[in-house]
Amino acid sequence: MIIEYVGERLAPAVAEARYDDEAMKRHHTFLFDAGKVVIDATKEGNESRFINHSCQPSCYVEIKKSRVYIHAKRNIRQGEELAYDYWYTTDESYTDADRRRLYPCRCGTPKCRGTLAAPQKKKKAKKAVAAKRPSAKSARAKRPATKRAKAA
Ligand SMILES: [Zn+2]
Repeated sequence: MIIEYVGERLAPAVAEARYDDEAMKRHHTFLFDAGKVVIDATKEGNESRFINHSCQPSCYVEIKKSRVYIHAKRNIRQGEELAYDYWYTTDESYTDADRRRLYPCRCGTPKCRGTLAAPQKKKKAKKAVAAKRPSAKSARAKRPATKRAKAA
């Protein structure tokens, strides 16, 4: 383990109220979605909040009991920059083109997907979710983009 991603631990609804989506479109986010809590590294954060994003990173994220740990994916040379995949969760109504425009990535790696955001979910899954929870979309409209662990 390299470092734990720490900060103020908020209920997701509190984090949503604190940051509106418009601000998140312009500013770097220090929010990490750890499941039951959202970690806001602007308060009580450590150096982990300055680790950059890469689509082909040297580190990966593990979430264990709502705590976030950043691990090395491979041997990292001295002086080499640390990075992990932010895998932002964003508004479900966004297209992949919206994500590339709002959260552009210029990591320059061969595997760059052009955005810090996780790619769009498959349409089938999205429809099933919408049918079960009709209010889910409107409730999430204001949700700020949060970092999330990429599924292994
Ligand atoms: Zn990239």
